[in-house]
Amino acid sequence: MSKVYDVIINGCGPTGLATALLLARAGHMVAILDRHEAIYPLPRAIAYDHEVARILGVLGLTDAMAPLVATPGVYQWQNQNGELLFELNWGDAASVSGYATSYLFSQPDMEKVLNDAAQVEPLIEVMRGLEATGIAQDAEGVTLTGRQLSGEAVCLRGRWLVGADGANSLVRSVLGVSLEDLGFRADWLVVDVIPKDGARLPLDNNLMLQVCDPARPTTIVSGGPGRRRWEFMALEGETLEKLNCEERAWELLKPWKVTSENAILERHAVYTFRGAIAEKWRDGRVFIAGDAAHLTPPFAGQGLCAGFRDAAALAWRLDLALKGMASEGLLDSFESERKAHARAWVMNAIELGNVICVLDPAAAAARDAGMKAARAAGEAPPSSGILPRLGTGMNLTNHHGGALAAGGKVNLGGKHGHFDDAVGSGFVLVSRLGDPARSLSRQAAAIFDALGGVSADVGPVVDCTSVYARWFDELGADTALIRPDFYLFGAASGPNAADELVMALAPYITVSATAGA
Ligand SMILES: Cc1cc2nc3c(=O)[nH]c(=O)nc-3n(C[C@H](O)[C@H](O)[C@H](O)COP(=O)(O)OP(=O)(O)OC[C@H]3O[C@@H](n4cnc5c(N)ncnc54)[C@H](O)[C@@H]3O)c2cc1C
Repeated sequence: MSKVYDVIINGCGPTGLATALLLARAGHMVAILDRHEAIYPLPRAIAYDHEVARILGVLGLTDAMAPLVATPGVYQWQNQNGELLFELNWGDAASVSGYATSYLFSQPDMEKVLNDAAQVEPLIEVMRGLEATGIAQDAEGVTLTGRQLSGEAVCLRGRWLVGADGANSLVRSVLGVSLEDLGFRADWLVVDVIPKDGARLPLDNNLMLQVCDPARPTTIVSGGPGRRRWEFMALEGETLEKLNCEERAWELLKPWKVTSENAILERHAVYTFRGAIAEKWRDGRVFIAGDAAHLTPPFAGQGLCAGFRDAAALAWRLDLALKGMASEGLLDSFESERKAHARAWVMNAIELGNVICVLDPAAAAARDAGMKAARAAGEAPPSSGILPRLGTGMNLTNHHGGALAAGGKVNLGGKHGHFDDAVGSGFVLVSRLGDPARSLSRQAAAIFDALGGVSADVGPVVDCTSVYARWFDELGADTALIRPDFYLFGAASGPNAADELVMALAPYITVSATAGA
């Protein structure tokens, strides 16, 4: 066991793979393991949002994902009689990140893209068919013990460890961390079908439908190009064994005119949708992330998205820790920031679930009447599309920080493209009043340089779609400091704005005493 990895990641799901890729791109050596040899094949996520698209963008995976995603169309909620309760045109919605609001896909397709990228990354060792059985940490690092499928014992040593090992996380249980139950539980059968030989299924692929029928709440959505997803809620007294079989899946699909004549039943599974959050996300050199740290019913389509956000939030902190630049406070801020954000999404999904999963006909009728009246009055539908802020973490409220920062198309030196491609990502200073890095004091410049920061003047020529002008107007500021996970560290105005923002990082970052002297 002479080799010491910078980071060991337990779990090759989307959270683990995204974390591994971000760390390797920052120059760190990563071991990532999974007990399964193959990618998990069952139906899970079908939608990811603009933040995930932005992270995939900086990983250079936008093109690899392009043929695997579809754009959503209209999202409707209907009652049992097909009456409209609410409608949202997702195709029209713009996002703050400069990508489409939402992308429809199949999770195993995305995991293959991430896995392929990890396999060819020289700094990542992907170890599949290896189950972690224990971890132990000391002052210098973490030792993971495990067992290969052949039964052979394996021992890995790393400076840091991330438990991205899903809902039943081994890492979480070794740390003795309990889950706070956020109070929702419902069983659903999830079925993916593929139209046969060019057959058109009765429902248009772009229409997303929430059928609020108390006799069987049902969700019908695209599962990415060429695939359609049905989700059926289990009724009271319906055993999971009875529900989780092909025969039952076909019976439930039949009323939707989907049969073995026109469709292939690709896969099915029964899940218990629940909301929960881990009490603690860090213990010394060990972190948990993704489903290991939070569980959500899928009604807002946010479990995997939250895992990607954890990956982005953790990767830059571990990057600084591995460079000897992260304070304890910075490492601890991962939990306090991400927990508040993840909790907001879980509560949003539970709120949606409580409206959708109504089995009592009288309660359903009351809900329908309320929603129809609200729609007639032009009131907002049940919240779908919140933009939560991070928890306090790095004292983010001081400079309006904690919200997702704007991203958009820019023109720079003859290049036209997303800011992250044209200018770069990482710690980013932007201003509409000239290059903000020019006004940094020696001390602030030393911190910013040590962080490998990039700075840009987003005046009207560069800001060709006025994204930054509108954003600065909303912030009431002219200069902003954006973090590598695309969250705003802070915004300010005036000649010392950039200096003020960079110096506010100082309590969290250790820069060598001679820098800037
Ligand atoms: C029906 C359904 C629909 C969903 N829809 C959406 C959606 O539309 N949008 C969205 O954002 N999210 C959605 N989700 C949630 C999404 O699927 C999960 O949040 C996501 O898979 C979590 O990723 P993860 O990497 O954290 O965990 P996982 O994907 O669970 O990966 C954990 C990995 O760790 C491995 N592992 C576990 N223990 C060990 C061990 N001891 N040793 C080695 N390896 C181990 C496992 O084999 C697994 O590969 C949905 C989920 C379901 C069930």
